[in-house]
Amino acid sequence: MKPIITVPQANPAAGYRDQKAEIDTAVERVFASGNFVLGREGEAFESEFAQWLGTPHAVGCASGTDALALLLRGFDIGEGSSVVTVSHTSVATIAAIELSGSVPILVDIDRDYYTMDVTDLAAVLDNPPRGVPPVRAVIVVHLYGQSAEMGPLVQLCGRHDVVLIEDCSQAHGASYEGRKVGTLAHAAAFSLYPTKNLGGFGDGGIVAVQSAKLSERITALRQYGWRRRYISDETGMNSRLDEIQAAILRVRLRGLDAGNARRRKIAAAYDDALASSSVRPPVRRFEAEHVFHQYVIRPPHREDAQAHLHGLGIGTAVHYPMPVHRQPAYFDRLALGPSRCRNTENISGQILSLPMFPELTDAQVEYVCDGLRGI
Ligand SMILES: *Cc1c(COP(=O)(O)O)cnc(C)c1O
Repeated sequence: MKPIITVPQANPAAGYRDQKAEIDTAVERVFASGNFVLGREGEAFESEFAQWLGTPHAVGCASGTDALALLLRGFDIGEGSSVVTVSHTSVATIAAIELSGSVPILVDIDRDYYTMDVTDLAAVLDNPPRGVPPVRAVIVVHLYGQSAEMGPLVQLCGRHDVVLIEDCSQAHGASYEGRKVGTLAHAAAFSLYPTKNLGGFGDGGIVAVQSAKLSERITALRQYGWRRRYISDETGMNSRLDEIQAAILRVRLRGLDAGNARRRKIAAAYDDALASSSVRPPVRRFEAEHVFHQYVIRPPHREDAQAHLHGLGIGTAVHYPMPVHRQPAYFDRLALGPSRCRNTENISGQILSLPMFPELTDAQVEYVCDGLRGI
């Protein structure tokens, strides 16, 4: 029998349907202006985003990957430096480190929260792997919408005098001890890819920084190193946020907090449904607020659970199926922390992401909950 309801795992088109009138108006405004790259919409989005986040400066760019690479360049971290991050992340985090010319070192994640294992990081900072340049920065990833353990991480990086950068690409609006992620370290990068909690209808990214000087430098680096038109003071790249995306993102930003609240409500419904099964709901840090970019479970038999849900027309995904250090492009050439990413390797074989986006209807959520009771 055909399922009556189908539920995709993600659905960026639904966000358009909900804000269609406002988005159409915003896009028409850009077409009429004749200004398509770096203009008023971009500037307005940067200042509205900075205000929403509570950070002094934000600079838009072409992607989350570029946001990270621009930050590393901005801190003069490149050739001759190592940067520590996790292997359980979007490959983009590692790609950005290599784009900057620096060398990635990968540490493990915690088994409950899936974020950087502080002990493994401490071991790397105390005793760096042989044959790599000095560690100059750490990129911490707030995975699935939940903050990493920022208190100890900030202390540890401070003690070792390394730059701490937050990768907030999955955690727009998440907080730790009452403060938003993206304001907790030296600087932060956000992806604005369509499926993120804050996403445009194309690629985009933004950095959040504390100092005016760094903001100015990154503004130059994103456009050929220009401070004056056509004159490169230093070598830069082309990583600009276009006006259409910026105009759309201004509309999307106004719906972000409500979208995150809806994600939390969906998560609570999934928690209730799982209470009667053998599957444990995602573990929350008591000092943090989760924004559920993904709702990730670890069923005893993942393939069976996945097949059961797919049979009901319920979409799932795996974020991520293969640790970065196991992927062909990176295999056997990256330095790892002393735990050898053991948790990362175990967990990547167990995790399953359920449908999660704010536009899921109550009926769809109830349908997924019924499906969960059967696993
Ligand atoms: C999506 C994502 C990125 C990369 O963003 P792009 O905009 O696709 O370049 C980086 N880090 C994490 C954790 C992400 O989820």
